[in-house]
Amino acid sequence: MNKFNTEKWTNIQTPFYYYDVDLLKQTLETAKNEADKRGYILHYATKANANPALLKLIFSAGFGADCVSGNEILRSVKCGADPKLITFAGVGKTDREIGIGLDNSIFCFNCESIPEMENIDVLAKAKHKIASIAIRINPDVDAKTHEYISTGKSENKFGISAWDFEKVIEKLEILSNLNFTGLHFHVGSQITDMSVFAEVCLRVNSFNQWFKERGFLLEHINVGGGLGIDYQNPDKNPIPDFASYFSIFEQNIKLYPGQKLHFEPGRSIVAQCGSLISKVLYVKEGKSKNFAIIDAGMSDLIRPALYKAHHHIENISSNKPYLVYDVVGPICESSDCFDKDVKLRETQRGDFIALRSAGAYGEVMASQYNLRAIPQPVYSENLQEFVP
Ligand SMILES: *Cc1c(COP(=O)(O)O)cnc(C)c1O
Repeated sequence: MNKFNTEKWTNIQTPFYYYDVDLLKQTLETAKNEADKRGYILHYATKANANPALLKLIFSAGFGADCVSGNEILRSVKCGADPKLITFAGVGKTDREIGIGLDNSIFCFNCESIPEMENIDVLAKAKHKIASIAIRINPDVDAKTHEYISTGKSENKFGISAWDFEKVIEKLEILSNLNFTGLHFHVGSQITDMSVFAEVCLRVNSFNQWFKERGFLLEHINVGGGLGIDYQNPDKNPIPDFASYFSIFEQNIKLYPGQKLHFEPGRSIVAQCGSLISKVLYVKEGKSKNFAIIDAGMSDLIRPALYKAHHHIENISSNKPYLVYDVVGPICESSDCFDKDVKLRETQRGDFIALRSAGAYGEVMASQYNLRAIPQPVYSENLQEFVP
């Protein structure tokens, strides 16, 4: 609890995102060390948190970037990402966005359909460039996570399915401005059941073999992101178990000589270092329950409303005994509720409330709904050198 120095916050407008920079650095170091040991390459999934100060820190630790829009590519490059380590995924890349990727000579376009491959070929030809592409394969694996963050089942819109591979190969013969360099997979997010990753490996092996038998020995295999974090106990497990995660791949993936394994972690890198800090506006005593009405709402952190996601909630101003509250925001939507029946220390107007594990898919998803201000970032240490 004393990790939050609330005395420093008296003049800061709430709600705000608070980032524990030391924890982020430790997480980066752990992930990078575990990957380096095994020769794996990491591309941070920029969409999880595109805060420029954090991006600079992440890229300076040697991570590449995994982008899902042209603007993410531009920001990643501006914040120090090496274009030779930028991947670009997404089912609906526009001509402008593909142009940005080509102009920056990025590492790889992860293609999600044959029409997209045809379009990249046309645009590359016009710029007299060769585009490196991977095909994103939909491996039909159940990520056993929330349906909105599951992407690797055959009914999802993502990727190219096995029955289209023959057609892909035929097309590649004609599309002369494409260089086919890899296979890409990403089956979902917040995956905590490690057997899912073992299953992904088995699928990857058979696809990799299929392409090799047809003369395509690909330089890289990219298995995406998806490693989950502990939303229940952020203080017990502040750094995800990257060693166990990578060793699942080490044990199950079969690479051919010269092939490199790539990953695209997002949430596992940034989730635990961030908290949404809010103040209690009112405590309302209902008939059967108490409501803690806080000044943060779904416009600041949408995950609970969008995916029924759980964030650990703490009153970091109170030392009184625990009572039970529904913690709700001020926005005119019934879904603007962070959690029900939360055990909080006895709460009063003005107390600071921390919504933990909010570093991923938090600040980056904030909106102006109800014309509210976008919450500002506050850092545990001076990030001057990293603020652009
Ligand atoms: C979102 C995404 C990621 C990151 O997923 P996390 O669950 O945050 O690790 C990686 N790759 C692709 C293609 C994505 O869309």
